[in-house]
Amino acid sequence: MVAKKIDGKQIAASVIRAVKASAAALERDTGVKTGLAVVIVGNDPASHAYVGAKRRMAEECAFKSVQHTLAMETTQEELASLVETLNVDESLHGILVQLPLPNHLSSDPIIQSILPEKDVDGLHVVNAGKVATGDLDGGLVSCTPAGAMVLVKHKHGNDLSGLNAVVVGRSNLFGKPMAQLLLAANATVTIAHSRTKDLPVACRNADILVAAVGRAEMVRADWVKPGATVIDVGINRIAAPENGEGKSRLVGDVAFAECAEVAGGITPVPGGVGPMTIAMLMANTVVAAHRKAGKPAPK
Ligand code: NDP
Repeated sequence: MVAKKIDGKQIAASVIRAVKASAAALERDTGVKTGLAVVIVGNDPASHAYVGAKRRMAEECAFKSVQHTLAMETTQEELASLVETLNVDESLHGILVQLPLPNHLSSDPIIQSILPEKDVDGLHVVNAGKVATGDLDGGLVSCTPAGAMVLVKHKHGNDLSGLNAVVVGRSNLFGKPMAQLLLAANATVTIAHSRTKDLPVACRNADILVAAVGRAEMVRADWVKPGATVIDVGINRIAAPENGEGKSRLVGDVAFAECAEVAGGITPVPGGVGPMTIAMLMANTVVAAHRKAGKPAPK
């Protein structure tokens, strides 16, 4: 059986259409234009590419879009002071500080200094705590797990009762909130990590297998239960000499071609979870703008 590819690009496009419509309605009804600020420090090319994609998407949604590009030698105090300025700017409803920051800067105090209601990346402890306590509507859910969850629900519906989910990876950024979202949807959840004994056996138990490790093509076909839904969060750049000398390409944490033979649904890399992350950032920003304007947040 060849698995059905779960097309994150297409599903993200439908999320973006809904965001655009709800931003336009908010502006028409209240005069409030949804505003997003993105902050990037240093010259990391991958980070600049992500920030560029976020800015373009914000513009496509007709948001006010502001980008602050800070020099590599920016100090912790300078970055903190910029966040303070953005916190009090009434025209901005979302603030995103692109991670990772250069090594001389500490990201956690910066993330925790963003007002929780403007923390559209969903990384502030207040927002993480709301997800952990099952309050999914009161805060802002971290974008990548929120996007991965949309893909899971696209395949299985909103209620995952009776399904076993295995999340490989336990980071605060992804693995933990993903597990909590699956739990909130009634899945029976296992979190696996580098100390898990016999990972392939744990994975073979999964009706929904989510890989967020950062190891190219680690998940093999014989780790996948026949018919399972496989969500590949990993983004790994590997050498691709077949495309020419010095060329590289992106792959996920899942060996796509062979796992697609076994799975019932599988996300590609690129074109799976990645586009959903950006779409959910836009969705969080328009939710934050609605709340600020005293309007019910779009679902
Ligand atoms: P982290 O490095 O923070 O976490 C990786 C996790 O994988 C850890 O919990 C680690 O376990 C576990 N792990 C490492 N090696 C193994 C192994 N051999 N077997 C089992 N588990 C292992 O990464 P992130 O969660 O931030 O990101 C994971 C991947 O997702 C990366 O490829 C990243 O690029 C990608 N990503 C993609 C996004 C998107 O938009 N699509 C957004 C965010 C991330 P332990 O805790 O024991 O060390």
